[in-house]
This record gives sequence, structure tokens and C-alpha cells, in this order.
Amino acid sequence: AHLARIEAIDEKVHAFLHVDREGALAQARAVDAKKAAGEKLGPLAGVPLALKDIFTTRDMPTTVGSKILEGWVPPYDATVTKRLKAADVVILGKTNMDEFAMGSSTENSAYGPTGNPWDLTRIPGGSGGGSSAALASFEAPLAIGTDTGGSIRQPAAVTGTVGVKPTYGGVSRYGMVAFSSSLDQGGPCARTVLDAALLHEVIAGHDPLDSTSIDAPVPPVVEAARNGSVQGMRVGVVKQFSGEGYQAGVVQRFNESVELLKSLGATVVELDCPSFDLGLSAYYLIAPSECSSNLARFDAMRYGLRVGDDGTKSAEEVTALTREAGFGDEVKRRVILGTYALSSGYYDAYYGSAQKVRTLITRDFEKAFEQVDVIVSPTTPTTAFPIGERADDPMAMYLADLCTIPTNLAGNAAMSLPCGLAPEDGLPVGLQIIAPAMKDDRLYRVGAAVE
Ligand code: GLN
Repeated sequence: AHLARIEAIDEKVHAFLHVDREGALAQARAVDAKKAAGEKLGPLAGVPLALKDIFTTRDMPTTVGSKILEGWVPPYDATVTKRLKAADVVILGKTNMDEFAMGSSTENSAYGPTGNPWDLTRIPGGSGGGSSAALASFEAPLAIGTDTGGSIRQPAAVTGTVGVKPTYGGVSRYGMVAFSSSLDQGGPCARTVLDAALLHEVIAGHDPLDSTSIDAPVPPVVEAARNGSVQGMRVGVVKQFSGEGYQAGVVQRFNESVELLKSLGATVVELDCPSFDLGLSAYYLIAPSECSSNLARFDAMRYGLRVGDDGTKSAEEVTALTREAGFGDEVKRRVILGTYALSSGYYDAYYGSAQKVRTLITRDFEKAFEQVDVIVSPTTPTTAFPIGERADDPMAMYLADLCTIPTNLAGNAAMSLPCGLAPEDGLPVGLQIIAPAMKDDRLYRVGAAVE
């Protein structure tokens, strides 16, 4: 049914870069055979899933939305891919994304944009717009995303779906193509809080192949999702997540959510987190710096595209020609910015300062979580904007992640879930819930209560 749905509508939505029809049917048949033989089935046996094209898959191409990896089929599965297969999930294919996960609209994909199923002329968010669009258009009931500065939560918000950025280190990064290694985190996307929890449990947990993977039990997310409640909880509302630039309908739905939390027995506490105002600036130094180092591996020798290798040019020339042709504008912009920020003489002023701001933001969170159990905010300042509207204005694009970035800088956990439609445009609004590190279960407890 999901393959038929994809065939019927994905030409319009363009959520998928690659649909593995035969592979998906084979996986589904294998589940049937296991069942017939009375073998033990995995926890998500037979459930179809859309996988962001940033995770390596040994039986499907992995492009990361870039021309530089066009046609590359990795020789190994990411840990997330492996765990999905072990859970007997049916992987339908790979979803569209901003090139190397750099963007907030999926317009930076080298393979063309994805449409928002609510209005195909609008963006589905980014970088993981393909995964959330697949959910919103009923092409898949589950999906996987990655969140470096908001790329799971922001697409969830603007497509009316659920997305969770687990605690940093909660889900293995092994085989997840690196953008900004100290911020990148894979996580579950779904249409309900409980579905997200069931997927979270399957992909999370310690992995010796990722040195930053947390060696501790996975927080009890499924149990929390089954027992939604905010009775007696202290919920924080941060002053810095409001003001200029927030759409009226987004603020209205957010305020209604706060009232709902109160009526369900939560105490609301106002919080001041002054360093959050510096989050965007710090992020746009740290993420490009790490990306400039991570993307050095795309040198035309190791993987994918190779341009100008005609026997007359040096290796450096071939590398330069390949990068010129293979990387898009946003990737080039960030590599240049990051290289500059890390260069001798500027390192302390830029990268060093950004790291100090990161510490201040972490301390703001620590202070906040002495007073509250979770923080809530709008996920994004506005609803989905029209395709093309911010394409030539990187600063306007970067603002889409204003509310999501502090969490990545501090490494704690956050969820976005739908909280209604904005009255002025009828488009979905996302409610963000933020919890301390390794308290991911609180997201699900609160999310299930207000869903
Ligand atoms: N929009 C942010 C960026 O462009 C975040 C992307 C992400 O989370 N991968 O970097």
C-alpha cells in the first residue's frame, strides 16, 4: 500500500530520492516467512519506514543530497540502518534532504526541492524535509532524520508531524555522513508520539563504533509515551523564545498549549536564558568549522564523483574541479566560512569565542533545569514559507532554527509535535519540548499528555 501511495503521489511531493521497491517487498516477504515459521519477530516487524539519505545503506545509494556522491553505494550499513533491519523494519527508500544536511527548507538538495504536502508550493522544512513530507503525505508511517541545528524538529513542525532529537550520544552516528560531528544526532520521525517512542527505542543505545555514544540504558521512552501526564510537573517558558519575528498564529497556538499544560496540572515557570540570543551566531561558526574539516574527505579520490581525470592534470586539479562541480553553493559557503574561522590568527576570535558561548548556553540550560522539568517553546518562529522565498537570503533561512539550535549546542533532548494550525494560513504549528540530557522520556511523557 505504501509503495502504491509513493508511486501515485511522489512525483508531486518528491519526498524520496530512491525507492527500493524490490528490496522493500523482499524484506516484507522475509517477515511473512519468519512469521509463518513461528520465528521470533523484531519489535517493528513489517512496518515501512523512510530513511534520510544521510545514513549508509549497503543495498541502496547514499547521496546525502549531493552530486558529489551521486551513484555511490556504500560498502556498509550505518548502525541505525542495521538496527532497523534487526527490528524487521521494511525500508522503503531514501529521502530527500538539503545537501549534507545544510539548510532549513530542502531547497539545497542537488536533486530538486521537496514540496510540503499541506501546500506543495511551500517548503517541508529542512534539512530532513523528505522524511517529514513522506509522513505527512502518508507515504510512510515512520521515518528517520538527523538534527544538527533543528533538521528533525523544524520539518516536523511545518509538516504537522512528530520529530525527536535524542540526547547527543543517544543514537549512534556510525555510518551517518558527518556534517558537524559535535552537534549531529539521528532520531525518530512519526505521526504520533507513541510511534516515535517505539522507533526511538529500536535505534537508540550504546554503540562501540561511535566514540561519543553514551554507554547507559536507553531512557524509558515507550513507557513514558504510554503514560502521558504533566501532573505536578514544572514547565519552563523562556523569555528569549519570543518577540520580534514570531508569527501571530504561532504565538497564539503556543500560548494555548501553555494554558493546556496548566489545565492538565503543570506549573508554569518563566525563565531567563540570556545566552540563547547568541545561539544562532555561535552555531553558524561551529557548524561550518566542523563541516570544513569533515568535508575534506570528498577529494575525488575516495568516493563518488571525479571530474577532469584525463591524465593531464594533477591530483590537486582533479580535486578542485570535482569540488567545483560536485558541491552546491551553500556547502561551498560553509566550507569557506569554516576554513576562515579555523585559520591561524582568527581561530580564537571566531571558533574560540563560539565555543565559549556554547558553554554559556549549556550553563543557562543547567540553571533552567534546576527550576523546571522541561522547557516548552514554539519549534519555529513561522509556519512553512513559500519555496524560493528565502533561497537567496541565507540570514533569513538561518532564522528558521532560532528555537532549535540551543539544544544542539548543549547536547540535551527535544521533541516537536503538532499543536494546531495557524489561523492566518491554515498551516501546522509545532510545539517544542526540551528536556535535560538523558531525560528523553520526559519529552514523551509531556508529548503524550498534550498530543
Ligand atoms: N538549518 C540548520 C543548518 O542549516 C540545521 C541543519 C540540520 O540540523 N542539519 O545548519
